[in-house]
Amino acid sequence: MPRKKLANYFDRVVLINLKRRPDRLKRTQEALKECRWPFKWPEVVEAVDGYANPVPAHFTNGPGAWGCMLTHKGILEQAIADRVRNVLILEDDICFIGHFRELIEEFLELVPGDWEQLMIGGQHMLFTGKPELIKPGVFRCIGTERTHCYAVRGEYMTRLIEKWTGGGKFNGNGHCDWIMGRDPDLQPKHKVYAPEFFLAGQERSKSDINGRVTPRQFWNPPGPELSVINLHAPKAVVIALREYGFHIGYDRERLSGVDNGLIKVFSANGGNPDGREHRMREWIKVIQWEVASDPRLLCTVWHPLAEPALVKEASLWPVYEITADTVEDVLKQLPGELRRQRMPELVEEGFASPNYNDRTPLPQPVSPGGVPLVRPSVPTKKELATNFSKAMLGWAKAGFKVVKRKVYEQRHAICSACEHWRADARMGTGMCLKCGCSGVKLWLAPSTCPDQPPRWGGTDELMNLSVQEQKTNAGIPPK
Ligand code: SF4
Repeated sequence: MPRKKLANYFDRVVLINLKRRPDRLKRTQEALKECRWPFKWPEVVEAVDGYANPVPAHFTNGPGAWGCMLTHKGILEQAIADRVRNVLILEDDICFIGHFRELIEEFLELVPGDWEQLMIGGQHMLFTGKPELIKPGVFRCIGTERTHCYAVRGEYMTRLIEKWTGGGKFNGNGHCDWIMGRDPDLQPKHKVYAPEFFLAGQERSKSDINGRVTPRQFWNPPGPELSVINLHAPKAVVIALREYGFHIGYDRERLSGVDNGLIKVFSANGGNPDGREHRMREWIKVIQWEVASDPRLLCTVWHPLAEPALVKEASLWPVYEITADTVEDVLKQLPGELRRQRMPELVEEGFASPNYNDRTPLPQPVSPGGVPLVRPSVPTKKELATNFSKAMLGWAKAGFKVVKRKVYEQRHAICSACEHWRADARMGTGMCLKCGCSGVKLWLAPSTCPDQPPRWGGTDELMNLSVQEQKTNAGIPPK
């Protein structure tokens, strides 16, 4: 397509930005330059701040979604008023796939000329059906959502406004992209197309409210070229390996660093092995979708019970087994095509930090003077008796196993620094004011700290041990 024709393909291009997020605007403008933006340079449109506007009673999806709906509606209304034939809308969390310029040009050559809406970025949902591949490179959308990069043309602008305003399945009450993708009168009855692989995604972002990180996502399916690493290594090594892209999951248990989804693979149904293979396959698929959105990452299974046979059976991709006690040894065993340079930028983005998306404890209440208001809860006599019998029963079930001195010392150090610990109680063995147990509890193998989340116990201690120690503790005999 001639350059000039491409530059004028869309009559109007807008970029939505919330005034209080100039950082996002700057980042998006840099991303546009980096991808060699082929269209008109976007006009910045100030987003309606839903928190600064009254939300009508009929709208029950919160101020954020209300502001978003008003913004998109306003852009289309303005386009109609200005007699603009089509408009391309971008949001300021957009990111682009590699070779965006070449790929978008190819898509626009392929897409049928009767298009009413183009979903250059999006997510195919299955509520109203699967998208149809009408020719290599082009999908006809049936239920495609998200609004970070789409174009609308002609009459279809009015159709969208009508549905956002009222009537139809949602009667104007819903996120604007849900209505766009789920109302049966819209995509299934109109000419809405998407490239076979979305060319725009949503950038990694950190919530201002809870600090949780949403990874970069393109919602493109993982290809067969990907691999899976089944890694057997201590926690400290795995933390360092994140800087080399080893992706062990985003939702990690705070202490052990093991992904909560992977923990469930082994603990669901009371740890019953039935269904483990299916659960493992589903977990790997989730990680591979994330890897497909960020090719710097490598899907990595890291759990002491992840036996080679299980992971191999579960995986739809080739699996590489790696057992090592050092970073160097892991990298040496990694096939050449999967080896990456150390990527310090992953640390800046938060991915490689030990706390990236880890479950963090709730903040402690603070007095007006800034002193944390810690009020240790002392268990009643009845609770004490229950806690004691539970601890004894658990210990008996575990075959009266005690922990190694290294683990005991680790637990003791954590308790000593805890506000619930009384070192001089229980004849000098110490006492936890949370459960009322004495320091003897620290020796019992199945014990866990009663705090929420627990400060020690469970998988964490295991993952700090060497590989052989992990296997022995998990009951896997040495080969
Ligand atoms: S067991 Fe947990 S809550 Fe109790 S003193 Fe130790 S660290 Fe604190």
